[in-house]
Amino acid sequence: MAAPWGDVLRNEAAVQEAARVAVDAALLAGVLMRTEGEPNASDVVNYAPFTLLPSAVPSALFEQAYAVQQDFNLLVDAISQNKEFLEHTLASTIKVDDFTARLFGIYMQVLEEGLAQSVFLGINRSDYMFDRGVDGTPALKQIEINTIAASFGGLTSRTVAVHGQVLKVLGKSKEASRLLPNNPSKGLALGIAKAWELYGSPSAVVMFLVEEVQRNIFDQRCVENELWNRNIRVIRRRFRDVFEKGSLDDARRLYMDGQEVAVVYYREGYVPKNYDQQNWEARLLLERSRAVKCPDIATQLAGTKKVQQELSQPGTLEKLLPGRAEAVARIRATFAGLYSLDVGEEGDKIAAMAIADPDRFVLKPQREGGGNNLYGEELRQVLEKIRDSPERTSYILMDKIKPQPAMNYLLRAHSPLQVSECISELGIFGVYIRQGEEMVMNEAAGHLLRTKAIEHADGGVAAGVAVLDTPYLV
Ligand code: ADP
Ligand code: MG
Repeated sequence: MAAPWGDVLRNEAAVQEAARVAVDAALLAGVLMRTEGEPNASDVVNYAPFTLLPSAVPSALFEQAYAVQQDFNLLVDAISQNKEFLEHTLASTIKVDDFTARLFGIYMQVLEEGLAQSVFLGINRSDYMFDRGVDGTPALKQIEINTIAASFGGLTSRTVAVHGQVLKVLGKSKEASRLLPNNPSKGLALGIAKAWELYGSPSAVVMFLVEEVQRNIFDQRCVENELWNRNIRVIRRRFRDVFEKGSLDDARRLYMDGQEVAVVYYREGYVPKNYDQQNWEARLLLERSRAVKCPDIATQLAGTKKVQQELSQPGTLEKLLPGRAEAVARIRATFAGLYSLDVGEEGDKIAAMAIADPDRFVLKPQREGGGNNLYGEELRQVLEKIRDSPERTSYILMDKIKPQPAMNYLLRAHSPLQVSECISELGIFGVYIRQGEEMVMNEAAGHLLRTKAIEHADGGVAAGVAVLDTPYLV
Protein backbone atom coordinates (compact mmCIF):
# COMPACT_ATOMS: atom_id res chain seq x y z
CA MET A 1 0.00 0.00 0.00
CA ALA A 2 2.99 2.30 0.48
CA ALA A 3 3.83 4.96 -2.10
CA PRO A 4 6.91 4.19 -4.20
CA TRP A 5 9.23 6.70 -2.52
CA GLY A 6 11.41 4.29 -0.54
CA ASP A 7 14.53 5.01 -2.63
CA VAL A 8 13.99 8.76 -2.34
CA LEU A 9 13.62 8.73 1.43
CA ARG A 10 17.07 7.18 1.79
CA ASN A 11 18.81 9.70 -0.49
CA GLU A 12 19.59 12.64 1.77
CA ALA A 13 21.11 14.89 -0.86
CA ALA A 14 18.14 14.44 -3.17
CA VAL A 15 15.75 15.17 -0.31
CA GLN A 16 17.61 18.38 0.62
CA GLU A 17 17.49 19.61 -2.96
CA ALA A 18 13.85 18.64 -3.45
CA ALA A 19 12.88 20.43 -0.21
CA ARG A 20 14.46 23.67 -1.46
CA VAL A 21 12.57 23.38 -4.74
CA ALA A 22 9.36 22.49 -2.89
CA VAL A 23 9.42 25.55 -0.65
CA ASP A 24 10.01 27.95 -3.53
CA ALA A 25 7.34 26.23 -5.61
CA ALA A 26 4.87 26.57 -2.72
CA LEU A 27 5.61 30.27 -2.35
CA LEU A 28 5.20 30.78 -6.10
CA ALA A 29 1.97 28.78 -6.23
CA GLY A 30 0.46 30.72 -3.31
CA VAL A 31 0.47 28.03 -0.62
CA LEU A 32 0.76 30.83 1.92
CA MET A 33 0.01 31.77 5.49
CA ARG A 34 0.61 34.90 7.47
CA THR A 35 3.11 34.57 10.28
CA GLU A 36 2.34 33.93 13.92
CA GLY A 37 4.10 37.17 14.83
CA GLU A 38 2.07 39.29 12.40
CA PRO A 39 -1.17 37.41 11.84
CA ASN A 40 -3.05 40.44 10.50
CA ALA A 41 -0.56 41.84 8.00
CA SER A 42 0.65 40.52 4.66
CA ASP A 43 3.99 42.36 4.63
CA VAL A 44 5.75 39.20 5.71
CA VAL A 45 4.21 35.87 4.83
CA ASN A 46 5.40 32.31 4.79
CA TYR A 47 4.52 29.06 3.12
CA ALA A 48 1.82 26.98 4.76
CA PRO A 49 3.34 23.75 6.09
CA PHE A 50 3.19 20.80 3.71
CA THR A 51 4.68 17.37 3.12
CA LEU A 52 7.65 16.96 0.86
CA LEU A 53 6.07 13.92 -0.79
CA PRO A 54 2.49 13.03 -1.61
CA SER A 55 1.10 10.32 0.71
CA ALA A 56 -0.30 7.01 -0.42
CA VAL A 57 -4.09 6.76 -0.29
CA PRO A 58 -5.87 3.53 -1.22
CA SER A 59 -7.83 4.36 -4.35
CA ALA A 60 -10.86 2.27 -3.34
CA LEU A 61 -11.21 4.26 -0.10
CA PHE A 62 -10.68 7.53 -1.93
CA GLU A 63 -13.52 6.66 -4.30
CA GLN A 64 -15.69 5.51 -1.43
CA ALA A 65 -15.21 8.88 0.29
CA TYR A 66 -16.26 10.74 -2.84
CA ALA A 67 -19.19 8.40 -3.45
CA VAL A 68 -20.72 9.04 -0.02
CA GLN A 69 -20.37 12.83 -0.04
CA GLN A 70 -23.70 13.62 -1.68
CA ASP A 71 -25.35 11.33 0.87
CA PHE A 72 -23.71 13.29 3.69
CA ASN A 73 -24.89 16.54 2.11
CA LEU A 74 -28.46 15.25 2.10
CA LEU A 75 -28.10 14.01 5.66
CA VAL A 76 -26.79 17.29 7.05
CA ASP A 77 -29.52 19.16 5.23
CA ALA A 78 -32.18 16.80 6.57
CA ILE A 79 -30.92 17.19 10.14
CA SER A 80 -30.92 20.97 9.82
CA GLN A 81 -34.64 20.86 9.02
CA ASN A 82 -35.56 18.44 11.78
CA LYS A 83 -36.33 20.42 14.93
CA GLU A 84 -37.52 17.41 16.86
CA PHE A 85 -34.30 15.51 16.17
CA LEU A 86 -32.04 18.42 17.12
CA GLU A 87 -34.04 19.16 20.25
CA HIS A 88 -34.04 15.57 21.40
CA THR A 89 -30.40 14.87 20.49
CA LEU A 90 -28.95 17.97 22.07
CA ALA A 91 -31.19 18.00 25.18
CA SER A 92 -28.59 16.47 27.51
CA THR A 93 -25.68 18.39 25.96
CA ILE A 94 -27.18 21.85 26.32
CA LYS A 95 -27.72 21.28 30.02
CA VAL A 96 -23.97 21.12 30.58
CA ASP A 97 -22.34 22.80 27.59
CA ASP A 98 -22.87 26.58 27.54
CA PHE A 99 -21.62 27.11 24.00
CA THR A 100 -23.95 24.56 22.41
CA ALA A 101 -26.74 25.91 24.63
CA ARG A 102 -26.24 29.44 23.32
CA LEU A 103 -26.24 28.29 19.71
CA PHE A 104 -29.34 26.28 20.43
CA GLY A 105 -30.98 29.32 22.03
CA ILE A 106 -30.48 31.34 18.84
CA TYR A 107 -31.79 28.44 16.78
CA MET A 108 -35.02 28.33 18.80
CA GLN A 109 -35.42 32.08 18.78
CA VAL A 110 -35.06 32.24 15.00
CA LEU A 111 -37.57 29.41 14.52
CA GLU A 112 -40.09 31.11 16.78
CA GLU A 113 -39.92 34.29 14.79
CA GLY A 114 -40.18 32.32 11.53
CA LEU A 115 -37.40 31.95 8.97
CA ALA A 116 -36.86 34.82 6.56
CA GLN A 117 -34.19 32.80 4.73
CA SER A 118 -35.40 30.64 1.83
CA VAL A 119 -32.14 29.70 0.08
CA PHE A 120 -29.81 27.41 2.05
CA LEU A 121 -26.16 26.86 1.20
CA GLY A 122 -24.11 24.15 2.86
CA ILE A 123 -20.36 23.87 2.55
CA ASN A 124 -19.00 21.01 4.63
CA ARG A 125 -15.97 18.78 4.82
CA SER A 126 -16.24 15.17 5.85
CA ASP A 127 -12.95 13.92 7.33
CA TYR A 128 -11.72 10.32 7.36
CA MET A 129 -8.82 8.19 8.42
CA PHE A 130 -7.88 4.77 7.07
CA ASP A 131 -8.30 2.34 9.92
CA ARG A 132 -6.03 -0.68 9.80
CA GLY A 133 -8.17 -3.76 10.31
CA VAL A 134 -6.98 -6.92 12.08
CA ASP A 135 -6.03 -8.48 8.75
CA GLY A 136 -4.20 -5.30 7.67
CA THR A 137 -6.83 -4.13 5.16
CA PRO A 138 -7.55 -0.42 5.58
CA ALA A 139 -11.13 0.82 6.03
CA LEU A 140 -12.53 4.31 5.56
CA LYS A 141 -13.70 5.68 8.91
CA GLN A 142 -15.21 9.11 9.41
CA ILE A 143 -13.53 11.30 12.03
CA GLU A 144 -16.13 14.06 11.88
CA ILE A 145 -18.03 16.29 9.50
CA ASN A 146 -17.35 20.03 9.64
CA THR A 147 -20.43 22.04 8.80
CA ILE A 148 -19.03 25.49 9.57
CA ALA A 149 -15.81 27.21 8.48
CA ALA A 150 -14.39 24.08 6.82
CA SER A 151 -11.03 25.39 5.70
CA PHE A 152 -8.02 24.72 3.44
CA GLY A 153 -10.07 24.21 0.26
CA GLY A 154 -8.20 27.19 -1.14
CA LEU A 155 -4.60 26.36 -0.33
CA THR A 156 -5.01 22.70 -1.16
CA SER A 157 -6.09 23.69 -4.65
CA ARG A 158 -2.47 24.73 -5.12
CA THR A 159 -0.53 21.86 -3.58
CA VAL A 160 -0.92 19.42 -6.49
CA ALA A 161 1.33 21.56 -8.69
CA VAL A 162 3.95 21.74 -5.94
CA HIS A 163 4.02 18.01 -5.34
CA GLY A 164 4.06 17.37 -9.09
CA GLN A 165 7.20 19.46 -9.43
CA VAL A 166 8.87 17.80 -6.43
CA LEU A 167 8.28 14.37 -7.96
CA LYS A 168 9.76 15.52 -11.26
CA VAL A 169 12.85 16.87 -9.52
CA LEU A 170 13.20 13.47 -7.89
CA GLY A 171 13.04 11.71 -11.25
CA LYS A 172 9.46 10.52 -10.86
CA SER A 173 7.70 12.18 -13.81
CA LYS A 174 5.43 9.24 -14.40
CA GLU A 175 4.19 9.37 -10.81
CA ALA A 176 3.85 13.17 -11.08
CA SER A 177 1.48 12.77 -14.02
CA ARG A 178 -0.73 10.50 -11.95
CA LEU A 179 -1.55 13.15 -9.31
CA LEU A 180 -5.21 14.07 -9.56
CA PRO A 181 -6.28 17.62 -10.26
CA ASN A 182 -8.09 19.16 -7.30
CA ASN A 183 -9.72 22.56 -7.00
CA PRO A 184 -12.11 22.85 -4.05
CA SER A 185 -11.88 26.66 -4.08
CA LYS A 186 -13.63 26.66 -7.43
CA GLY A 187 -16.37 24.31 -6.25
CA LEU A 188 -16.92 26.28 -3.05
CA ALA A 189 -17.11 29.53 -5.00
CA LEU A 190 -19.56 27.98 -7.47
CA GLY A 191 -21.87 27.16 -4.57
CA ILE A 192 -21.60 30.64 -3.11
CA ALA A 193 -22.14 32.19 -6.56
CA LYS A 194 -25.24 30.08 -7.19
CA ALA A 195 -26.68 30.96 -3.77
CA TRP A 196 -25.98 34.63 -4.47
CA GLU A 197 -27.79 34.35 -7.80
CA LEU A 198 -30.81 32.60 -6.26
CA TYR A 199 -31.02 35.29 -3.60
CA GLY A 200 -31.88 37.46 -6.55
CA SER A 201 -30.49 40.91 -5.91
CA PRO A 202 -27.72 41.73 -8.42
CA SER A 203 -26.35 44.64 -6.41
CA ALA A 204 -26.04 42.61 -3.17
CA VAL A 205 -22.64 41.45 -1.91
CA VAL A 206 -21.18 38.28 -0.41
CA MET A 207 -19.86 38.81 3.11
CA PHE A 208 -17.04 36.64 4.46
CA LEU A 209 -17.36 36.71 8.22
CA VAL A 210 -13.79 36.45 9.46
CA GLU A 211 -11.97 36.11 12.76
CA GLU A 212 -10.04 38.83 14.56
CA VAL A 213 -6.84 36.89 13.90
CA GLN A 214 -6.54 36.14 10.19
CA ARG A 215 -3.46 34.03 9.60
CA ASN A 216 -5.22 31.84 7.09
CA ILE A 217 -6.43 34.71 4.90
CA PHE A 218 -4.88 33.34 1.69
CA ASP A 219 -6.99 30.21 1.92
CA GLN A 220 -10.05 32.44 2.01
CA ARG A 221 -8.74 34.73 -0.72
CA CYS A 222 -8.63 31.75 -3.12
CA VAL A 223 -12.41 31.44 -2.80
CA GLU A 224 -12.90 35.19 -2.74
CA ASN A 225 -10.97 35.67 -5.98
CA GLU A 226 -13.09 33.06 -7.74
CA LEU A 227 -16.13 35.17 -6.83
CA TRP A 228 -14.57 38.42 -8.05
CA ASN A 229 -13.80 36.59 -11.30
CA ARG A 230 -17.54 36.07 -11.60
CA ASN A 231 -18.13 39.77 -10.94
CA ILE A 232 -19.59 39.13 -7.51
CA ARG A 233 -18.58 41.69 -4.90
CA VAL A 234 -17.04 40.31 -1.72
CA ILE A 235 -16.62 42.13 1.57
CA ARG A 236 -14.78 40.87 4.66
CA ARG A 237 -16.21 41.75 8.06
CA ARG A 238 -15.93 40.63 11.68
CA PHE A 239 -18.73 40.07 14.18
CA ARG A 240 -17.71 43.38 15.74
CA ASP A 241 -18.39 45.18 12.44
CA VAL A 242 -21.78 43.50 12.19
CA PHE A 243 -22.63 44.57 15.73
CA GLU A 244 -21.67 48.17 14.98
CA LYS A 245 -22.93 48.58 11.42
CA GLY A 246 -25.23 45.71 10.50
CA SER A 247 -28.99 46.23 10.24
CA LEU A 248 -32.17 44.60 8.97
CA ASP A 249 -34.96 46.32 7.06
CA ASP A 250 -38.67 45.49 7.37
CA ALA A 251 -38.32 42.45 5.12
CA ARG A 252 -35.30 41.39 7.21
CA ARG A 253 -32.89 42.07 4.38
CA LEU A 254 -29.38 42.38 5.82
CA TYR A 255 -27.37 45.56 5.28
CA MET A 256 -23.71 46.23 6.06
CA ASP A 257 -22.48 49.80 5.65
CA GLY A 258 -25.46 50.46 3.40
CA GLN A 259 -24.84 47.44 1.12
CA GLU A 260 -27.32 44.60 0.93
CA VAL A 261 -25.78 41.22 1.80
CA ALA A 262 -26.96 38.17 -0.17
CA VAL A 263 -24.69 35.51 1.35
CA VAL A 264 -22.88 35.34 4.70
CA TYR A 265 -20.01 32.85 4.51
CA TYR A 266 -18.80 32.05 8.03
CA ARG A 267 -15.10 31.47 8.54
CA GLU A 268 -15.72 32.40 12.16
CA GLY A 269 -18.14 31.60 14.96
CA TYR A 270 -17.35 27.92 15.52
CA VAL A 271 -15.65 28.13 18.95
CA PRO A 272 -16.56 29.90 22.21
CA LYS A 273 -13.58 32.24 22.00
CA ASN A 274 -15.13 33.78 18.86
CA TYR A 275 -17.93 35.26 20.97
CA ASP A 276 -18.45 37.99 23.50
CA GLN A 277 -21.90 39.43 24.29
CA GLN A 278 -21.80 41.78 21.30
CA ASN A 279 -20.75 39.00 18.96
CA TRP A 280 -23.66 36.84 20.14
CA GLU A 281 -25.97 39.73 19.33
CA ALA A 282 -24.37 40.07 15.90
CA ARG A 283 -24.84 36.33 15.31
CA LEU A 284 -28.51 36.61 16.20
CA LEU A 285 -28.95 39.52 13.80
CA LEU A 286 -27.37 37.52 10.96
CA GLU A 287 -29.46 34.44 11.70
CA ARG A 288 -32.70 36.45 11.77
CA SER A 289 -31.91 37.94 8.37
CA ARG A 290 -33.08 36.85 4.95
CA ALA A 291 -29.46 36.48 3.76
CA VAL A 292 -28.20 33.02 2.84
CA LYS A 293 -26.08 31.92 5.79
CA CYS A 294 -23.42 29.38 5.05
CA PRO A 295 -24.19 27.65 7.31
CA ASP A 296 -27.41 28.65 9.05
CA ILE A 297 -27.41 27.96 12.76
CA ALA A 298 -29.34 24.70 12.39
CA THR A 299 -26.67 23.35 10.05
CA GLN A 300 -23.95 24.34 12.48
CA LEU A 301 -25.77 22.35 15.18
CA ALA A 302 -26.03 19.41 12.78
CA GLY A 303 -22.23 19.27 12.83
CA THR A 304 -21.88 18.85 16.59
CA LYS A 305 -20.15 15.77 17.93
CA LYS A 306 -23.27 14.85 19.91
CA VAL A 307 -25.27 14.70 16.68
CA GLN A 308 -22.54 12.55 15.11
CA GLN A 309 -22.81 10.12 18.00
CA GLU A 310 -26.61 10.00 17.81
CA LEU A 311 -26.43 9.22 14.07
CA SER A 312 -24.65 5.97 14.87
CA GLN A 313 -27.59 4.72 16.95
CA PRO A 314 -29.60 1.95 15.24
CA GLY A 315 -32.52 3.33 13.23
CA THR A 316 -31.52 7.00 13.35
CA LEU A 317 -30.23 7.30 9.79
CA GLU A 318 -33.30 5.48 8.47
CA LYS A 319 -35.56 8.00 10.19
CA LEU A 320 -33.63 10.98 8.86
CA LEU A 321 -33.35 9.67 5.29
CA PRO A 322 -36.55 7.70 4.71
CA GLY A 323 -36.65 5.67 1.51
CA ARG A 324 -32.92 6.02 0.90
CA ALA A 325 -31.61 2.66 2.04
CA GLU A 326 -28.55 2.76 -0.21
CA ALA A 327 -27.45 6.16 1.00
CA VAL A 328 -27.96 5.00 4.58
CA ALA A 329 -25.78 1.94 3.97
CA ARG A 330 -23.02 4.02 2.35
CA ILE A 331 -23.04 6.47 5.24
CA ARG A 332 -23.14 3.81 7.93
CA ALA A 333 -20.19 1.94 6.42
CA THR A 334 -17.96 4.93 7.29
CA PHE A 335 -18.93 5.10 10.97
CA ALA A 336 -16.51 4.14 13.70
CA GLY A 337 -17.88 3.08 17.10
CA LEU A 338 -19.47 6.08 18.83
CA TYR A 339 -20.83 6.03 22.37
CA SER A 340 -23.03 8.27 24.48
CA LEU A 341 -21.98 9.22 28.00
CA ASP A 342 -25.48 10.39 28.95
CA VAL A 343 -26.50 9.88 32.56
CA GLY A 344 -27.86 6.38 33.15
CA GLU A 345 -26.83 2.75 33.28
CA GLU A 346 -25.69 2.57 29.66
CA GLY A 347 -23.49 5.65 30.08
CA ASP A 348 -22.03 4.20 33.30
CA LYS A 349 -21.04 1.06 31.41
CA ILE A 350 -19.43 3.06 28.60
CA ALA A 351 -17.47 5.21 31.06
CA ALA A 352 -16.21 2.09 32.86
CA MET A 353 -15.23 0.49 29.55
CA ALA A 354 -13.19 3.55 28.52
CA ILE A 355 -11.49 3.86 31.91
CA ALA A 356 -10.47 0.21 31.74
CA ASP A 357 -8.98 0.51 28.24
CA PRO A 358 -8.32 4.20 27.44
CA ASP A 359 -6.02 3.55 24.48
CA ARG A 360 -8.91 2.15 22.50
CA PHE A 361 -10.86 5.43 22.58
CA VAL A 362 -10.96 9.18 22.04
CA LEU A 363 -12.96 11.41 24.39
CA LYS A 364 -14.44 14.41 22.55
CA PRO A 365 -16.07 17.57 23.89
CA GLN A 366 -18.44 19.66 21.73
CA ARG A 367 -15.61 21.70 20.24
CA GLU A 368 -14.04 22.37 16.86
CA GLY A 369 -10.68 23.49 15.61
CA GLY A 370 -8.40 20.78 16.99
CA GLY A 371 -6.58 20.27 20.26
CA ASN A 372 -9.64 19.56 22.40
CA ASN A 373 -9.86 15.78 22.46
CA LEU A 374 -8.49 13.54 25.17
CA TYR A 375 -6.51 10.34 24.70
CA GLY A 376 -4.87 7.59 26.72
CA GLU A 377 -3.92 8.34 30.31
CA GLU A 378 -5.42 11.83 30.19
CA LEU A 379 -8.70 10.41 28.94
CA ARG A 380 -8.72 7.98 31.87
CA GLN A 381 -7.98 10.64 34.46
CA VAL A 382 -10.60 13.09 33.20
CA LEU A 383 -13.27 10.47 32.81
CA GLU A 384 -12.57 9.09 36.25
CA LYS A 385 -13.02 12.55 37.72
CA ILE A 386 -16.34 13.24 35.98
CA ARG A 387 -17.79 9.74 35.70
CA ASP A 388 -20.40 10.38 38.41
CA SER A 389 -21.18 13.94 37.33
CA PRO A 390 -23.59 15.15 34.63
CA GLU A 391 -20.57 16.98 33.17
CA ARG A 392 -19.64 13.77 31.38
CA THR A 393 -22.58 14.30 29.01
CA SER A 394 -20.75 17.24 27.42
CA TYR A 395 -18.43 14.60 25.88
CA ILE A 396 -18.88 11.73 23.48
CA LEU A 397 -16.65 8.68 23.26
CA MET A 398 -15.31 7.32 19.97
CA ASP A 399 -13.25 4.32 18.93
CA LYS A 400 -9.71 5.37 18.18
CA ILE A 401 -8.78 4.94 14.52
CA LYS A 402 -5.35 3.41 14.00
CA PRO A 403 -3.95 4.01 10.51
CA GLN A 404 -0.79 2.45 9.13
CA PRO A 405 1.98 5.08 9.43
CA ALA A 406 4.26 6.02 6.51
CA MET A 407 7.53 7.95 6.37
CA ASN A 408 7.55 11.50 5.03
CA TYR A 409 9.18 14.90 5.54
CA LEU A 410 7.03 17.69 7.00
CA LEU A 411 8.16 21.04 5.65
CA ARG A 412 7.61 23.90 8.09
CA ALA A 413 9.24 27.31 8.14
CA HIS A 414 12.17 27.53 10.59
CA SER A 415 12.13 23.78 11.27
CA PRO A 416 14.94 21.34 10.55
CA LEU A 417 14.36 18.86 7.75
CA GLN A 418 13.82 15.46 9.29
CA VAL A 419 11.95 12.33 8.39
CA SER A 420 8.82 11.54 10.45
CA GLU A 421 6.48 8.65 10.86
CA CYS A 422 3.17 10.05 9.67
CA ILE A 423 -0.54 9.39 9.36
CA SER A 424 -3.02 11.16 7.09
CA GLU A 425 -6.60 12.38 7.22
CA LEU A 426 -8.63 12.76 4.03
CA GLY A 427 -11.40 15.37 3.81
CA ILE A 428 -13.99 15.65 1.06
CA PHE A 429 -15.68 19.00 0.50
CA GLY A 430 -19.43 18.93 -0.01
CA VAL A 431 -21.48 21.79 -1.45
CA TYR A 432 -25.26 21.88 -1.70
CA ILE A 433 -28.08 24.36 -2.09
CA ARG A 434 -31.70 24.01 -1.16
CA GLN A 435 -34.31 26.50 -2.26
CA GLY A 436 -37.41 26.01 -0.17
CA GLU A 437 -37.95 22.26 -0.39
CA GLU A 438 -35.97 21.65 -3.54
CA MET A 439 -32.29 20.61 -3.74
CA VAL A 440 -30.83 22.64 -6.59
CA MET A 441 -27.19 21.66 -6.09
CA ASN A 442 -25.55 18.65 -4.44
CA GLU A 443 -21.88 18.09 -5.20
CA ALA A 444 -18.56 16.81 -3.96
CA ALA A 445 -16.22 19.73 -4.61
CA GLY A 446 -12.73 18.35 -4.11
CA HIS A 447 -10.55 16.99 -1.36
CA LEU A 448 -7.99 17.86 1.29
CA LEU A 449 -5.30 15.55 2.58
CA ARG A 450 -3.65 16.51 5.87
CA THR A 451 -0.73 14.62 7.36
CA LYS A 452 0.84 14.72 10.80
CA ALA A 453 3.57 12.98 12.75
CA ILE A 454 2.19 10.09 14.79
CA GLU A 455 3.34 11.55 18.12
CA HIS A 456 0.50 14.11 17.88
CA ALA A 457 -2.80 12.53 18.80
CA ASP A 458 -4.81 15.61 17.86
CA GLY A 459 -4.90 18.76 15.81
CA GLY A 460 -5.18 20.13 12.29
CA VAL A 461 -3.15 22.46 10.09
CA ALA A 462 -4.37 25.67 11.75
CA ALA A 463 -3.48 24.16 15.13
CA GLY A 464 0.11 23.76 13.89
CA VAL A 465 0.13 19.97 13.97
CA ALA A 466 -0.91 18.65 10.56
CA VAL A 467 0.42 19.85 7.20
CA LEU A 468 -1.04 19.99 3.69
CA ASP A 469 -0.55 16.97 1.51
CA THR A 470 -1.65 15.51 -1.83
CA PRO A 471 -3.01 11.97 -2.21
CA TYR A 472 -1.09 9.54 -4.36
CA LEU A 473 -3.57 6.81 -5.18
CA VAL A 474 -2.36 3.26 -4.81
P1 ADP B 1 -12.00 18.99 15.68
O1 ADP B 1 -13.40 19.44 15.53
O2 ADP B 1 -11.29 19.62 16.82
O3 ADP B 1 -11.24 19.05 14.38
P2 ADP B 1 -11.85 16.11 15.35
O4 ADP B 1 -12.91 15.16 15.71
O5 ADP B 1 -11.62 16.34 13.92
O6 ADP B 1 -12.15 17.47 16.11
O7 ADP B 1 -10.51 15.65 16.02
C1 ADP B 1 -9.31 16.38 15.90
C2 ADP B 1 -8.19 15.46 15.47
O8 ADP B 1 -8.04 14.40 16.41
C3 ADP B 1 -8.42 14.78 14.14
O9 ADP B 1 -7.98 15.60 13.08
C4 ADP B 1 -7.61 13.50 14.29
O10 ADP B 1 -6.25 13.76 14.02
C5 ADP B 1 -7.75 13.18 15.76
N1 ADP B 1 -8.88 12.24 15.97
C6 ADP B 1 -10.16 12.57 16.15
N2 ADP B 1 -10.93 11.47 16.30
C7 ADP B 1 -10.11 10.43 16.20
C8 ADP B 1 -10.31 9.02 16.26
N3 ADP B 1 -11.51 8.48 16.46
N4 ADP B 1 -9.22 8.22 16.11
C9 ADP B 1 -7.99 8.76 15.91
N5 ADP B 1 -7.75 10.06 15.85
C10 ADP B 1 -8.79 10.91 15.99
MG1 MG C 1 -11.43 17.91 12.73
